[in-house]
Amino acid sequence: MDCLFCRIVAGEIPARKLYEDDQVIAFNDIDPKAPVHFLVIPKKHIATLHDLGEQEDKALAGHILFTAQKLAREQGCDEGFRVVMNCNELGGQTVYHIHMHVLGKRPMSWPPG
Ligand code: AMP
Ligand code: ZN
Repeated sequence: MDCLFCRIVAGEIPARKLYEDDQVIAFNDIDPKAPVHFLVIPKKHIATLHDLGEQEDKALAGHILFTAQKLAREQGCDEGFRVVMNCNELGGQTVYHIHMHVLGKRPMSWPPG
């Protein structure tokens, strides 16, 4: 298995887990860009947002978003937070297993660089 996040799902690489169920896992980013910075990923390997299937992955995509919402609240981000999904090299993606970044507890500027 050469996917880093599949290895985290399999428990082969440790992660600071915040949440897990049968479909998703959330863990703190190893190189946080904000006081709160965690990732929500599907357990299923999907390389990029282009590979997310509108039919077969619709419920999963919603579940990722609502997991982010719930955990952002739990992490005290009621005042505001940001979610980001980078797609492919031009979009800044470095790990090719889709993940939703959730960043909070600092002011955010727009647009991102
Ligand atoms: P992206 O650039 O959108 O693909 O984001 C990948 C994210 O994964 C980056 O923010 C990394 O800091 C993070 N990351 C890489 N390796 C690990 C790891 N072993 N545990 C937690 N987060 C990681
Ligand atoms: Zn994977």
